[in-house]
Amino acid sequence: MQIVLGASRNTTFEQCPRKYKYRYIDKLPQKDWPFHALGSFVHRVLEIWIQSLLVKIEPKMAASLAYAAARKEDAGTKIEPADLQLAKSLLKDYMKEYLASDIETLSTEKRFSFTLEDDFVVRGIIDRVDRLADDKIEIIDYKPTKSPDRLNAQQLMIYALAAKKEFGEAENVVASYVLLRHNNRKVSYDFTDSALKEEEQRLLEQGVTIRDETEWTPKPSFLCNYCDYFMQCHEESDFWTTW
Ligand code: SF4
Repeated sequence: MQIVLGASRNTTFEQCPRKYKYRYIDKLPQKDWPFHALGSFVHRVLEIWIQSLLVKIEPKMAASLAYAAARKEDAGTKIEPADLQLAKSLLKDYMKEYLASDIETLSTEKRFSFTLEDDFVVRGIIDRVDRLADDKIEIIDYKPTKSPDRLNAQQLMIYALAAKKEFGEAENVVASYVLLRHNNRKVSYDFTDSALKEEEQRLLEQGVTIRDETEWTPKPSFLCNYCDYFMQCHEESDFWTTW
């Protein structure tokens, strides 16, 4: 059976193997965190809005339809009132900026999947793919995070690897985070072919480590405060008997 790899899976394993086991092997449900609802809602509105623009719906009408549709979905019903106000403000700012640009969007929520040495399959979803004026392809990932200092390049590297397989040379691909809470500032990466080869190797090594893991040892850190499985982990570990 192939092992599935991806930005969020690999990061979870690096952060804590036990958490990886709970989420991806035991498939325990995740908690509803308020910050998840905000992020999911903003992503969903932008996805529907841009898809509507691609079929030539008038932008304000498209925004209204996208907002209404996303409000009926899971994240839209769970978002807290203060976060909803924040989401509206972030969305309006970003929509205005998008309309004032000459961006040509090719697709949104683009799923990808590629294999590595038959044993591993790398999967993910790219928020948006644009074509730039110089014919380069730009991969966009929206980040509604407050703390951009915690961003790492691996997620975009995986996306760039997927785009390279579809669009050719690495030099044709730019990958950018858009920081929605920081005036839509972009953090962009131009990956070289050799950087992507190194990333492919790193993914393979992570895949082998995950495949061969048997202990799933808890790795406590400040992230335990935001862990979906905090109670389960502490009930199952020897936390209460080793102090
Ligand atoms: S509570 Fe902490 S140690 Fe336990 S699974 Fe979650 S992140 Fe890992």
